[in-house]
Amino acid sequence: MRIKCPYCGERALEEFTYRGDATVTRPESLDASATDAWVDYVYLRDNPAGPHKEHWHHSAGCHAWLVVTRDTRTHEILAVEFAREGS
Ligand SMILES: [Zn+2]
Repeated sequence: MRIKCPYCGERALEEFTYRGDATVTRPESLDASATDAWVDYVYLRDNPAGPHKEHWHHSAGCHAWLVVTRDTRTHEILAVEFAREGS
């Protein structure tokens, strides 16, 4: 599998570090009433079959954080974008 970094171009997978699911969002509330939301955020992940957004770090390259859309069935990379504007 190869990932096309927006800065560096196409690079080998070994240059990147997988961080995890890019679709989860941190709960805004720190109240005890949000415990279920925090359990979901920290421990629960979907296991989709098909296109899925993931965080990848170009750790042996430019150190950019990327959101990679990958088909989990074929490992085809469908899109690569910066995780945050200005990264
Ligand atoms: Zn890069």
